[in-house]
Amino acid sequence: MGYADRFFLALALCLGFVPLWNPRRTTEAKARIQRQPFGKTPDQKVIDLYTLTNAHGVEARITNYGGILVSLKAPDRNGKLADVVLGFDDPEGYLKNNTPYFGAVIGRYGNRIAKGRFSLNGREYRLARNNGENHLHGGIKGFDKVVWGAREVKRGPALALNYVSKDGEEGYPGNLSVSVVYTLTDNNELKIEYSATADKATILNLTNHTYFNLAGEGSILNHEVMINADRFTPVDQGLIPTGELRSVKGTPMDFTQPAAIGARIEQQDEQLLLGKGYDHNFVLNGGDAPALAARVYEPVSGRVLEVYTTEPGVQFYTGNFLDGSIKGKGGQVYQRRYGFCLETQHFPDSPNKPDFPSTVLKPGEKYATTTIFKFSAK
Ligand code: BGC
Repeated sequence: MGYADRFFLALALCLGFVPLWNPRRTTEAKARIQRQPFGKTPDQKVIDLYTLTNAHGVEARITNYGGILVSLKAPDRNGKLADVVLGFDDPEGYLKNNTPYFGAVIGRYGNRIAKGRFSLNGREYRLARNNGENHLHGGIKGFDKVVWGAREVKRGPALALNYVSKDGEEGYPGNLSVSVVYTLTDNNELKIEYSATADKATILNLTNHTYFNLAGEGSILNHEVMINADRFTPVDQGLIPTGELRSVKGTPMDFTQPAAIGARIEQQDEQLLLGKGYDHNFVLNGGDAPALAARVYEPVSGRVLEVYTTEPGVQFYTGNFLDGSIKGKGGQVYQRRYGFCLETQHFPDSPNKPDFPSTVLKPGEKYATTTIFKFSAK
């Protein structure tokens, strides 16, 4: 073969093979979404399980029942995948009434509204009281217990969920049309985009209630946490904010520098750790949105979770009310503090706290927030 022939052969090979080597093409070949039946609700509504997989084999499973993130497999420092969220293998676990919101979309209102009451435009509304005298996480049948419409989105792997909450549902005013889009990116991010519109003035505070355990199982007390917040909202005995925005300085709430969850969790202080552990809303310092809210590192596996959000607050909850009565995935018994939540949100009880950022959604306005859970290892 002459020089020219060899040149053209090499060129042809390059042209033929380059697309195969193109990392983007590989990505497109691997990233995918698959649907499978998951079960039926007691009223015979069919629910599905969607598996989103990215180019690195990171996998998120989501059901359209409650918009629940059922599992999330993330790599450790050696590339070994583990499921880092609490939950159940079977739909029955989620359909029981006593599950503590594992992985679910929370609405209409994430966290508590004092005495289940608020006023809007001169009218008082009474909501379902499902947490002592207070309203918690949307009421008796919140968004975590409804079947959402589901649609696979091509730009994904992404799953779009939608739900129409009727005027008066759980006591809230206005017909509300909500959409939650989960996207798994090739940067190992699970991105959650919430949007909504209403036909009457209402209040809205959507979040996701995933319990993470970056080791995959066991206690979370060794996890090191940084929360990008100089202030938090102290609470009363019913875990309702007092209205004050207090500095974290010199308190067990100071996570501006990374600290192990267990390091100060037993420092009981009437004012601070009323939930017998962390169960508090932090006032995020913000930044370019979505801004870094928190970073969590698990030293044995090396897994790191970063949370970015457009929201002004995050509820850091350390699974204080888990008590070993729930048997989850693979028969794991979920003991106290076996999972932690970082629920990005507006502050609890905002409808009754005029100085907190508003949670009012008016007709003609569009509610839109974004939260990103990003996984890496070091
Ligand atoms: C609340 C906790 C509650 C937990 C499960 C968290 O968002 O702040 O007080 O126990 O959710 O319901």
